[in-house]
Amino acid sequence: MKILVVGGAGYIGSHMVKQLANAGNDVITLDNLSYGYRDAVKYGEFVEGDLGDDKVLDSIFKNGDIDAVMHFAGFIQVGESVVKPAMYYHNNVASTLTLLDAMLRHEVKNFIFSSTAAIFGEPDYTPIDERHNKQPINPYGHTKLMIEQVLDDYDRAYGLRSTCLRYFNAAGADPDGELGERHIPETHLIPLILQAASGRREDIKIFGDDYDTDDGTCVRDYIHINDLCTAHSLALQQMIKNDASARYNLGNGKGFSVKQVIDVARAVSGADFKVTIEPRREGDPAVLVADATLAKQALDWQPEFANLDSIVKTAWDWEVNFLLKQ
Ligand code: UDP
Repeated sequence: MKILVVGGAGYIGSHMVKQLANAGNDVITLDNLSYGYRDAVKYGEFVEGDLGDDKVLDSIFKNGDIDAVMHFAGFIQVGESVVKPAMYYHNNVASTLTLLDAMLRHEVKNFIFSSTAAIFGEPDYTPIDERHNKQPINPYGHTKLMIEQVLDDYDRAYGLRSTCLRYFNAAGADPDGELGERHIPETHLIPLILQAASGRREDIKIFGDDYDTDDGTCVRDYIHINDLCTAHSLALQQMIKNDASARYNLGNGKGFSVKQVIDVARAVSGADFKVTIEPRREGDPAVLVADATLAKQALDWQPEFANLDSIVKTAWDWEVNFLLKQ
């Protein structure tokens, strides 16, 4: 297949491009490099441009040979979305509509969308399945849910098939050591802990130890980046085969507290580092764990990195062999 990966220079997108190319697909990455890295696109063709730019999109779609689009080019920082909602609505909603318009113009009917556990808001129950109420509590979550709703309507009206994949906590790095997580600023727990372990950061701050969990720290469901990408590949095949849209929650189905993640990182890295307790971060639910039963059954998907140690190990290798040397 020929697949356009929008945001293919970012963390999840770059791993996806590699997996698709290795599976024999023709891949084009479109990325404006606002957060992505040119050197993270190691396979296929690269086009520097914005997903909200009609002309760039028309030039990519004009040959009529693109079978599917995967869209990873979302802004992802919850806190920033609260302070700068316009930025989030413009990129995550308006520009995505421009991309969808271009797909309709060129009759490209298969779309895979990076969605998020943030569409569910404060959980009513856990683990969270696809039927859970969808009431986001921040602009980031709103933008992702809006596009899911747009996609429901576009399926009915235009026959545009979509699969929305709600990620819980994407983590880890390419086991070959070619790719990994490189956010600036870094806000995610595992890379921050590993920066502390490698000495690039003074300490790791725990945002709240008074939650209603076993050890008082927040519990999250960490899923390896390659397992996420595999789910995308399977979802695309299934969507084309069934000619039907779908929505899946993607996680390991197991929760780990912030303190447990720190313990695993200590064991994997063999390094000790300072841990400080800070106030809660706004908008953090105590527990976010996926019920990924539907994805496992419908896609015959089974995460390979089922334990946290193996996930953190790949991220640690990336920290030591790549980031530390920058
Ligand atoms: N967290 C923390 N210290 C940090 C970064 C994150 O204690 O420096 C906590 C955060 O409060 C959350 C969990 O780690 O409970 C995972 O946060 P992350 O930002 O990695 O992902 P999120 O769950 O927000 O998508």
